[in-house]
Amino acid sequence: MFYTKNGNKIVFKKYLSPKNIKIELDKYIIGQYQTKKIISVAVYNHYKRLYIMNKNNIYLEKSNILLIGPTGSGKTLIVKSLAKIVNVPILIVDATSFTEAGYVGEDVESIIQKLLHECNYDVELTEKSIVYIDEIDKISKKNDFYSGKDVSGEGVQQSMLKLIEGVTLNISPLIEKRTSQQQTYFLINTLNILFIAGGAFSGIEIFINSRINKEISFLNKNNNEKNLLMNIINDDLINFGIIPEFLGRLPIITVFKELNIYELLHILLKTKNSLIKQFCYLFIIENVDIKFSINSIKEISKIAIKKNIGARGLKSILENILLDILYIFPSKKNLKMIIIYKNVIIMKKKPILIYK
Ligand code: ADP
Repeated sequence: MFYTKNGNKIVFKKYLSPKNIKIELDKYIIGQYQTKKIISVAVYNHYKRLYIMNKNNIYLEKSNILLIGPTGSGKTLIVKSLAKIVNVPILIVDATSFTEAGYVGEDVESIIQKLLHECNYDVELTEKSIVYIDEIDKISKKNDFYSGKDVSGEGVQQSMLKLIEGVTLNISPLIEKRTSQQQTYFLINTLNILFIAGGAFSGIEIFINSRINKEISFLNKNNNEKNLLMNIINDDLINFGIIPEFLGRLPIITVFKELNIYELLHILLKTKNSLIKQFCYLFIIENVDIKFSINSIKEISKIAIKKNIGARGLKSILENILLDILYIFPSKKNLKMIIIYKNVIIMKKKPILIYK
């Protein structure tokens, strides 16, 4: 394990094998087996690379990662979980908030400024952290103009190239950190920062489909949209508007599947701090039991699938359904148990209330 000069413990516990990383990820992320495997190996190799470079002077190229998948499928969750597992700080930024260098708006270098701030101005720690750039598909070449200026998605991709590959930057602290008149700068090298980019890439299926249809040798034609994404190759991403140079700096690409009803059910019930557990707790602290029939939970999952919001929508669906109950129950005397059954969800029937 490394320690920074400031004594902060960082990454690469030797026992953290790809298998162990995946076992840890399994605790947080339901489904997405292939993706968890790919990411476990990638992250293991990334930190092994740091460890080796620390010992010898061998240069191993880094492998940033691109996560592709529908909204609410676990992309952000996997990155957050990884940061916890390898014990490094993580910064999550939105690609759409940046403009290319020289234009009014947020410069991509501000990513490192924020990261440094998150790392409490520990340069070594900053240089071994993880940055997740979300909504990367929204800065594709075709989304060309913001407010009439030539501040294109392509320009933002261009200005991120050096940053994600590895560059030394002179970073000033965030405003609130500036204490004296004299400005201190921090030299930060981004070479060992693991950059993970993610996006839904909705609409990319058109490019995949037309490519597959052109490839006569493609025997296993499958026009199912969900499976189409699994056949993605770099050309499709380039056709979508990701520039080749940018893609070249994200050599590991992995696709998240849309979560199915059983995975959503599992997320609702079984994950650490699952939503159903949280709701039960809300009632238990007021001495009321709440039970959900398995069919009622299946119906909640079906709503999320219908709305195309993945697991992200489960909480708002549950809150919506439970609103009346949450409103009434604190003033009900002698209430012992509430039972939620299927028709409470689909027909908005009243739940069963059992009194002491
Ligand atoms: P996105 O793919 O859009 O980044 P998130 O990772 O932010 O989606 O998911 C939103 C929320 O949905 C998470 O905080 C988590 O509660 C839940 N979630 C999504 N996917 C999964 C999954 N595969 N396993 C467990 N929970 C998940």
